[in-house]
Amino acid sequence: MSTDADARTAPEDRQASAPAAQEAEGGRLIFQSEVFRAPDAPRPRSPVPAQASIAEPARDVPVHAECDVLVVGGGPAGTAAAVAAGRLGARVLLLERYNHLGGLSTGGLVIWIDRMTDWSGQRVIRGFAEEYLDRLPKGALAGPPREAWGSRDAATVAWWAQRTAAYHGTVTFSPTCDPEAMKLTAQEMVLEAGAEILFHCWGAMPVMEGSAVRGAIFESKQGRRAVLARVVVDATGDGDLFHRAGAAASTEIDDRDIHHTMNTPWLFGGVDMPRFLRWRAETPEQFAEFMRRGKAAHPLFDKPFVSWRDDIALFMGPRLAGFSAIDVADQTQVEITSHRAMAHHLEFYRAHGPGFENAYAMLTAPQLGVRHSRRLEGVGRVTRDGWDGRVQADEIGVSPPLSPKFQNVSVPYGAIVPQGLDGLLAPGRHLSSDVTSHSFMREIPQCWLTGQAAGVAAALAVQAGVEPRAVDVRAVQRALAAQGVHLNPQAAQAAA
Ligand SMILES: Cc1cc2nc3c(=O)[nH]c(=O)nc-3n(C[C@H](O)[C@H](O)[C@H](O)COP(=O)(O)OP(=O)(O)OC[C@H]3O[C@@H](n4cnc5c(N)ncnc54)[C@H](O)[C@@H]3O)c2cc1C
Repeated sequence: MSTDADARTAPEDRQASAPAAQEAEGGRLIFQSEVFRAPDAPRPRSPVPAQASIAEPARDVPVHAECDVLVVGGGPAGTAAAVAAGRLGARVLLLERYNHLGGLSTGGLVIWIDRMTDWSGQRVIRGFAEEYLDRLPKGALAGPPREAWGSRDAATVAWWAQRTAAYHGTVTFSPTCDPEAMKLTAQEMVLEAGAEILFHCWGAMPVMEGSAVRGAIFESKQGRRAVLARVVVDATGDGDLFHRAGAAASTEIDDRDIHHTMNTPWLFGGVDMPRFLRWRAETPEQFAEFMRRGKAAHPLFDKPFVSWRDDIALFMGPRLAGFSAIDVADQTQVEITSHRAMAHHLEFYRAHGPGFENAYAMLTAPQLGVRHSRRLEGVGRVTRDGWDGRVQADEIGVSPPLSPKFQNVSVPYGAIVPQGLDGLLAPGRHLSSDVTSHSFMREIPQCWLTGQAAGVAAALAVQAGVEPRAVDVRAVQRALAAQGVHLNPQAAQAAA
């Protein structure tokens, strides 16, 4: 177990029992949470081949389609971008390598959506996020009712603290959701916005025109094909497109912070979570002994979270450090380790966990859980000194702060605009930020926020015939406000 410098809101790592935040050197917030070094090292690797490379012959690539806005990656950021751009009349094409939308929030089983309310209970991440969650069918979302947001009532806080939605003595809107309902709702919203989806297409290379991206080549069962576009939204999470287009990226991490760890989450079905939670709350010494024995039996032993149903438990750890998300051998090892950990947990929880006697392995996530790989070097950044309540002139949305001691964070448009590359925007977990701010700007609601802004800016850039960096930010803000996005009053007034 290691100390996790965790200046964060990420609910995955907060428990009712989590130790309080501490102020560390340099004023960073430190949370204690577990980061595991996988015991399976050394990782198997193919021997280094005698021949270092081969020449791939040049070839003509068929053009599959032309559009205004090409979105590569259908996770939270890409989905929000496609909907936002489509609603502004842009011809949008969304490429996704798997068979569903939602990215890690669905296929990654990261179904615990981080806080969208600030510490007063005001919902500050709105727009696409609000509409999307409101459209989920009945029973697909478990979280505190609106009237409880911001509540400091001890009993209400105690209840929600066990159910992903109360921190620092305050009830927050940070629900858990049904991943299938999220997939379908996202898909229908994208289609209703007039955007076209292409599943099973892996964005491979940008199509370049000088220093501007004008489309992408994708790999598929039809072979290698191209889509030409006026603006590309790289929503791959790993900067696949902007990296290959030569944009500068940072791989800097804070290894005390969970923001760089990887793992494949899983679900256990057949559980009685209310019984487990009662036992845990009423007999903390038994729970501590259970955890001690679990760790003795398996070094990666971890705790479950609630899900959208009482009979399903969510495991979003153990979080593995020391792996690269852009190295195929490391990705493979994380899958192997996570799948083994799932089996160990099932055995132990069934034998010793009250409420888990009839548990079964329901699903390991189809998508590898990557929190960080590359981060864009943007013309702007989200940085720690911006947590003081200042309003960015190019604000595209507002994020809740990490704890009640900070102000809401104004997110600048520049954080999704590359420094030296035209024709591309990069919302989502690979946005431009310092390490500390990445700990919360990578979260799902923040990816919806930056994704929606990218979609709006891309559509307006196409309409105006300018590069995304030259788009009228006031027009972006007006369009975002019209789509229901919350902006600070100064930004909203300046745009009006
Ligand atoms: C284990 C874990 C726990 C987490 N816990 C929380 C939590 O509790 N709450 C929270 O809010 N956030 C949490 N997060 C963070 C959050 O899930 C992600 O940061 C967020 O989903 C990122 O959204 P995104 O759209 O930027 O990228 P992603 O969700 O990664 O989506 C990217 C999409 O692009 C597709 N794609 C990638 N490359 C290509 C390509 N080359 N071509 C075509 N398609 C491509 C992928 O298949 C995927 O669908 C957690 C993350 C992990 C890994």
